[in-house]
Amino acid sequence: MFSDELKNISWEETTEKIASMTDNDVRRALAKSHCDVDDFMALLSPAAEPYLETMARLSRKYTEERFGKTMSMFIPLYITNSCSNSCVYCGFHRENPMARTILTPEQIEDEYKAIKELAPFENILLVTGENPAKAGVPYLAKAIDIAKKYFSNIKIEVMPLSAEDYKELTHHGLNGVICFQETYNKEHYQNYHPRGMKSKFEWRCDGFDRMGQAGVHSIGMGVLIGGRRSTPSTFHVCVRLRTRDSTPTVT
Ligand code: SF4
Repeated sequence: MFSDELKNISWEETTEKIASMTDNDVRRALAKSHCDVDDFMALLSPAAEPYLETMARLSRKYTEERFGKTMSMFIPLYITNSCSNSCVYCGFHRENPMARTILTPEQIEDEYKAIKELAPFENILLVTGENPAKAGVPYLAKAIDIAKKYFSNIKIEVMPLSAEDYKELTHHGLNGVICFQETYNKEHYQNYHPRGMKSKFEWRCDGFDRMGQAGVHSIGMGVLIGGRRSTPSTFHVCVRLRTRDSTPTVT
């Protein structure tokens, strides 16, 4: 599990190493067709700032080579804003006395129909807060069952699940899962997520491993970037992608 590997990666050393990268390190990385993790550190570093345009051109080149000139759009649909967590950056946190809704299957289907009336969308992302007691796996399975009538690609962005639960949802027609590991710094993570199931760093961090074990076809891994202390987390996503092939599969 990645949380075990993470114990061997020092946040402080990673931060210092990224900050110490030089112009030469960046040029060396840009000249390679296959970068290693040190090269990625160089490209994330302050020394890479003068090369943003160069990196953007390379990014476009590799993107077009792999995906062609395509653009994929999806519709995010919140089917509940009910949540048992207390993330400090989110208005849905449980202490906020706002109206909460858990859409019924009939209401969910009405939303699907309304979306299809807008345009021939095929990709839907079902989003929830985290309320496994009232909007857990059976609820998600029902929403996916109905979605199959309207969409060919169904993804979820919900609470991390067990490998068995991910597996069950793929049997219902789930194509992909998106999840944010907001930061890979455990101390920062605890500050942002003080209560509820989301406060369990390892459970969330290892959710991607469980998706892999379950054979989820498409896995979207997010971190919150832009913050002063977010760069090492971006690096951790890179390390994690490098180790993805070692994940065993649940059958
Ligand atoms: S789990 Fe999601 S919906 Fe709930 S408070 Fe955190 S960010 Fe908001």
